[in-house]
Amino acid sequence: MTNTEDNKKLERIRLAVPSIGEGERKNLNKCVDDEFVSTVGEFVDEFERRLAKVSGVESAVAVSAGTTGLHASLVVLGVKPGDLVILPTFTFIASANAISHAGATPWLFDISESTWTLNVNKVRDALETKTKRTPDGDLIHVETGRRVGAIMPVYTLGIPADMDEVGELAKAYGLPVIADAAAAIGCTYKGRPLGALADLTVYSFNGNKTITTGGGGGVVGANTDRLKTVKHLTTTARPSTASYDHDAIGFNYRMTNIEAAVGCAQIERLEEFLKAKERIRRAYDEAFKAISAMVTTFPDPEDRMSAHWFSGIVLHPASGKSVKDVTDALDKANIEARPFWKPVHLQKPYREAPTEPCVVADDLWDRIVTLPCSTNLKAEDQDRVIKAVLDVFS
Ligand SMILES: *Cc1c(COP(=O)(O)O)cnc(C)c1O
Repeated sequence: MTNTEDNKKLERIRLAVPSIGEGERKNLNKCVDDEFVSTVGEFVDEFERRLAKVSGVESAVAVSAGTTGLHASLVVLGVKPGDLVILPTFTFIASANAISHAGATPWLFDISESTWTLNVNKVRDALETKTKRTPDGDLIHVETGRRVGAIMPVYTLGIPADMDEVGELAKAYGLPVIADAAAAIGCTYKGRPLGALADLTVYSFNGNKTITTGGGGGVVGANTDRLKTVKHLTTTARPSTASYDHDAIGFNYRMTNIEAAVGCAQIERLEEFLKAKERIRRAYDEAFKAISAMVTTFPDPEDRMSAHWFSGIVLHPASGKSVKDVTDALDKANIEARPFWKPVHLQKPYREAPTEPCVVADDLWDRIVTLPCSTNLKAEDQDRVIKAVLDVFS
């Protein structure tokens, strides 16, 4: 039998799949038994309480997706049609799409090499040299004549951005900060929990994130009144269920009780999942030291605690391998590996968006391979992945 036939008999190792168990089943059964399956129910309230708690803040709003949470947050923080919103180009396209859904346009910036998050120095320089203040107080991007409405740092791979520096800039220029923390639940920044680092912080609970609700998202922040506004706007802006009076153009961005039922069971296991993610990362980092001339591993800055959402390798030009070479080889070994985000400024809908030079992102993005990192990845399966990767470079 050939090697490939051998491997076909081995179960396929998936990239990032959820771990669903008895707790989720029990909660889902309760939704059915109680007949609370839609947008109200005890699990939604409970999930919001738990989400606030793990974020270190008083309140949270459960929403239908990370994307819709970002959209609503931009609107609540005053981003208007025509505005620019400062965004790192190296992110999942949903961050940019949420900005577009608010009628605004991303103003795209490079990332820093050591954290893969927004390069705040470049933002500072651009704000100094490329904007001016109008007599009525608006901050205008001179070249396009557009108002700058907000800053949206992204916590890449679960690594918080340089939030002290972002906060200083935001204060100096009077800009609100919306953090795209889609995959970052559980990380901390200089010992501080995530929820109060930005004006509003948005999670995703899509199936490939550290905890999932099937599909869903969450918004957290330190200002409880602002969170009430998020809740109001994402639930059709209806002050009371006693009447069909609506006081604004709201959204239907609610999470269902079924989704929150899964979320409640998942969030109880957050510590377990975070530990698994970290253990997986350490094992890859350790194993690939042997091929450090050809690949490096993902960043893990010392001054903040990453949530280690995804793990993988970055190919050096000296390796002579492309991402496809590696993913094809792993596929033959029945292992799922994938490329990672293509920067927003290289995406068809955003080619015209104002973009600062993005040297780091341009050089980095098509050298990244993500490797299996499901929280239920077995040690022997990870060994299989490691062996398959080492084989590619031997
Ligand atoms: C997953 C993700 C999103 C989108 O979240 P959805 O729940 O799929 O809408 C946004 N931004 C980043 C950085 C993500 O990783």
